[in-house]
Amino acid sequence: MNETAIATHGRHAAAPAADGAVDVLTGGDSGAEWLARYNGALLGVFGTPQRVLVRGSGCYVWDADGTRYLDLLGGIAVNALGHAHPFVTSVVSSQLATLGHISNFFTSPTQVALAEKLLALAQAPAGSRVFFTNSGTEALEAAVKLARRNSTTGRRRILALDGAFHGRTMGALALTSKKAYREPFEPLPAGVEHIPFNDTDALREAMDGSVAALVLEPIQGEAGVRPLSPEYLRTARELTREHGALLILDEVQSGIARTGHWFAHQAVDGVVPDAMTLAKGLGGGFPVGALVTFGEDVSGLIGAGQHGTTFGGNPVATAAGLATLHALESMGALQHASDVGAYLRAGLTAVDGVAAVRGEGLLIGFDLDGEHAPAAVQAALAAGFIINATGPSTLRLAPPLILTTEQAATLLDALPAILRTAQTPAREASA
Ligand SMILES: *Cc1c(COP(=O)(O)O)cnc(C)c1O
Repeated sequence: MNETAIATHGRHAAAPAADGAVDVLTGGDSGAEWLARYNGALLGVFGTPQRVLVRGSGCYVWDADGTRYLDLLGGIAVNALGHAHPFVTSVVSSQLATLGHISNFFTSPTQVALAEKLLALAQAPAGSRVFFTNSGTEALEAAVKLARRNSTTGRRRILALDGAFHGRTMGALALTSKKAYREPFEPLPAGVEHIPFNDTDALREAMDGSVAALVLEPIQGEAGVRPLSPEYLRTARELTREHGALLILDEVQSGIARTGHWFAHQAVDGVVPDAMTLAKGLGGGFPVGALVTFGEDVSGLIGAGQHGTTFGGNPVATAAGLATLHALESMGALQHASDVGAYLRAGLTAVDGVAAVRGEGLLIGFDLDGEHAPAAVQAALAAGFIINATGPSTLRLAPPLILTTEQAATLLDALPAILRTAQTPAREASA
């Protein structure tokens, strides 16, 4: 420790970090040098990152070499308010400067207020409750434990859908359907069965008194933005109620105003889940997730001592959540997401080489007429746009909900050339 640090130990002045403080901590470098250092220091689970990003503002980010990108992925549906939103930044900074972490032996005003706010937005009935986590997968872990607690009568089965993505930790991974994610880590927690997507007959067949829970994404995000039909969601609600199974909706990606509703299931009348998982957009970029349990009976399934977390629900994370929800409300995010989303989808449909467009609000997937989606991501980067491939021929957009029509138009204008570049075989391009 240097002298200043020793001198202020135990009584820090609330001084903001000086400009460039982060550069002093990291060393500062060019993009290529950072990537070399990355590969020497980080576990290889993500491959080599596409760019080294150093700064963001609104819907734009800048890389270490000074290039600007329009961020149409939003940190995978996380940066609901874009980057460096002034209100979220100020609330998070002032909460951290006031009280940062306290453990769940204590509570804080921001924790209580965010729980109340989520219950109000979810229009959750009396007796509904919230458990805070730091991520989506942890929210799903809590949901799996809730499902297990609905198994006292011998219910052992949990149903999930083909194409489902629910996270990477063991319980959530058991719910995730992709073999490449699952198989290297088996045995996974037992009892999960995957049934065909959006198939009410298959659901009816699978459902009986041995099912503890049915876990669904109202819109499958990682599978390429595939919405369940309203009819499927209603059938799922009826059958789970009839057989005493929990209906657990994973709104980690589809929630928090992204689809033009606070939660995607609210688009479908009569579908109120027994539990709902949240994360991604909730903290506006700060890590925070939640499990919401609906009604007294479901909330009562998990009691004191049966689950926990050290960081979950800490004052800074919950302040971030409160600030995010407040800012989304005051900007009219539901209407805005649905307007800009409709504009983008209509525009995409008209682009040559786009075969199908799906999604609601600003959660959008579109299929190309060939398997060049990864090449399109590269071509888009070169043209100054961040987009994402969920598969060989499918692209996803999950931009900040503050995206303007004008910004969306720049992608639509650039897309034909991006797709042409992506379709050009590499040998032709280099010839
Ligand atoms: C991203 C995601 C998760 C996992 O969230 P993490 O924060 O990455 O753990 C779970 N469910 C859905 C639907 C997701 O999109």
